[in-house]
Order: sequence, then C-alpha cells, then structure tokens
Amino acid sequence: MEQAIYLDHAATTCVDSEVLEVMRPYYGREYANASALYEAGRNSRQVIEQARSRIASCIGARAEEIYFTSGGTESDNWAIKGVCLASPKKKHIVTTSIEHPAVLNTCRALEKQGVRVTYLQPDSWGMISPEKVAEALTEDTVLVSVMHANNELGVIEPISAIGKAVKSKGILFHTDAVQSFGYEPLSMPHLPVDLLSVSGHKIYGPKGIGFLFIRNGTEIRPFIDGGGQERNMRSGTESVPLIVGLASAVSKLYKNQYRYAWHAKQLRDYLAYRILTEIPDTIMYGGKKNYGKYLPNIANISFAGIDSALLLKKLDQAGIFASAGSACHAASGEPSYVLQAVGIPRVQARGAIRFSVGKDNTKEEMERAVHWIKKSVAQLRES
Ligand code: PLP
Repeated sequence: MEQAIYLDHAATTCVDSEVLEVMRPYYGREYANASALYEAGRNSRQVIEQARSRIASCIGARAEEIYFTSGGTESDNWAIKGVCLASPKKKHIVTTSIEHPAVLNTCRALEKQGVRVTYLQPDSWGMISPEKVAEALTEDTVLVSVMHANNELGVIEPISAIGKAVKSKGILFHTDAVQSFGYEPLSMPHLPVDLLSVSGHKIYGPKGIGFLFIRNGTEIRPFIDGGGQERNMRSGTESVPLIVGLASAVSKLYKNQYRYAWHAKQLRDYLAYRILTEIPDTIMYGGKKNYGKYLPNIANISFAGIDSALLLKKLDQAGIFASAGSACHAASGEPSYVLQAVGIPRVQARGAIRFSVGKDNTKEEMERAVHWIKKSVAQLRES
C-alpha cells in the first residue's frame, strides 16, 4: 500500500520531529509547576520566559507582548471579547464576512449582548479594501478585526493599509495571522496592529498552544480568570512542553521561511497547473490574476458538475487527504461561505476543494495526486 498523501496543511500540520524532541524532557523529568518556588519550578519558569523571548525576537516584539493561549480560537476570542470588556461603552466592531468561525462566531456571540457588528464584504478576489474599512468606522467603534490571510482562498489582506486607517482614528486593530504566520514576515514595531493571533499546530508545532501578541498599552481585559498566570492576563497552569514546542516551531519556521515558502509554491503551482490544464472545466480561485498577494501553499479549485464531498471521499479511498474549505464546516455539507462571499455561485462552490501543501510534500506526491484526482473526477463525471 502506498503512503497517504497529505494535502491539508491549512487544517493542521504534523509536529516537526526536532520540535517533538525539544518537548520530550518536559513531559518527563522536567515537569515542575512554573509557579512553584523551589528550584525545579524556577527552572520551568525560566524555560517559559526563554520561549517567550525567542518567539518575540522572531517578530520584533517585546517578550512581554507575547501571551500564551490554547491556540488560534482562544487568541481570537480573547482579542475581541477582551477589548469589548475593557471598553464597555463602545459598542461597534468592524470585521469581514470571510473571517474564520473563531472570529465570526465570537462576533455573533457579542451581537447577542448588544454589540453592533459590521461584516465587510471582500471584492471578487477576496480582498478587503482599506477604504471600505475606513468608511465603516464610527465614534462607537472599539475594534477592527481583519484576518492577515484567508484560510480558504489564501488571499493576503492589505493589513498595513487597513491598520493605518484604523489607527489614525485611535481604534484598536486585531488580525488573525493563523494561516499567514511564517509565510508573511512580521515586524511588529512597524506593523500598525495591536493584537495578532497565532496557532502552533499550523506551523509544525503542537496542538493546544498558540499566542496572542498584545501591543504594550492596549486596553484589554483578561478572558480566563483564575490563578493569575501570564501576568494576571490568562490564568491556568502553563504547559511547559507545549510552550517550548511552540517556541521551537516558531524559530525553526523563521530560520527556514523562504525555503518552506519556495518549496510550497513550486509544488502548489505544479499541482494547480496540472489539474487546470489536464482536467476540463476546472477553475482555481485566487492567486491567478496579477492582483493582490496570495499564500504560496493553497490551491482552491472547483470541478464543475462535481460534489466535493464525493470527490473527497474518492480521494480519501486513494489515500489523498484534502478538504472542502475550513475543517469547521466540512461536516455541514453547505458550500463554503467564503467562496459565496466572493461571488462564486453555490453550485460552483459545491465542487470546490482546497489543496494545501507543506514542507514535507514531494513532487512525486503531486504526480500521484494528479493521477488520482484525474481518475476520480472522470469516474464521478461518468456516473
Ligand atoms: N483562524 C484561522 C484563519 C484558522 O485557519 C484557524 C484554524 O483553522 C483558526 C483561526 C483556529 O485555530 P486553532 O485551530 O488553533 O484554534
């Protein structure tokens, strides 16, 4: 049996073997609670603070601006709810209709508590216009949240321009950088962003860990109350192995970012080119026109006349793993709301599959994937 081909890196990645090795001692001998005052506890504390500094230095942040969380969903929740809690008199948020559910459902939950939310629509390429963001701001706006890169289309939003427009009105700006982290270099001193979410398991780190960058001076309340860890901002006993794993994944990513991005782009472009030229009636969303910027690892391709759930099932049987957009709505059978937001008709969106490549994929895997995709599409179209 041939090895499965994993083309769903935007959903999650495997933990890098070096990262796993770095984490191992902290599941063994080095298990002390970082709040304990004896030597082993002090050692755990030191390891956490070293990890924080390591992450901060990769993005030009100050160590105290990095707060560990359980991942992207918690970071997004905290950024949005925490800012609203800190400024309860202001009751308006601006976001977009193509955010991840971690942002969208957080905003919907706040709507039930009386917060007004403006959901901006992207253009047909998935781009959010800074001008539209500026027009949506009011005296009552407390926060703008626009993702750095979309998880389905791979489109990279102009967050510098958006951030400038937002900051010029003294409003806080959050960006979800879960998909872009490592592909788009970040320099926090120059980026007009107050809050930025990152997740470990998208970057060859462990699941259950991420961080929220909170620029010094940002008005935000804690989201998880308890024993006062993370300088009273995010309580809960710190997971030293996960924190060490996250720092190791971030620094390996930053050391290799151009190589990983180049490798992903070669394979993604090759896979897309073969599918688009060899399978009739296929369209790729995003990344095709000389307009905007796109992540190098995602190809979202629609196969006319095909139900993506059936195609994914066939590919699964052939050992090829991909998905129809976000894993969160994979089970619903609904065509992607992101594709519909960029004006793709439901029937066309229903036939769309997101292939996302990673650092360990090979060209030989792309050849095999193309073979099975062609065969499966032909079988489904004949049936
Ligand atoms: N934001 C984006 C853009 C994502 O793609 C994801 C995961 O798919 C998340 C947030 C949620 O991150 P996590 O799985 O770490 O909670």
